[in-house]
Amino acid sequence: MKNAQCKKCLNKFYEKNIYTIQQFQYRKEPTYKWSLEFFKKLDISEWDSFCEQCITYYSKKSKDAWEKFKI
Ligand SMILES: [Zn+2]
Repeated sequence: MKNAQCKKCLNKFYEKNIYTIQQFQYRKEPTYKWSLEFFKKLDISEWDSFCEQCITYYSKKSKDAWEKFKI
């Protein structure tokens, strides 16, 4: 049963395919601390569920913002 829902696109999907921003703690850059602040501004917490497509979108979005932030 598809009983998980993506916070962004609102699509339903299988619970085993849930992604959260917690996976970004394994990125070297941006730092996780920075990532948490970034997502906080977007009203996204560590407990929000996303589908693979949307977490990929946020991964890129945060990385792009980090690149600009570093300059
Ligand atoms: Zn989604």
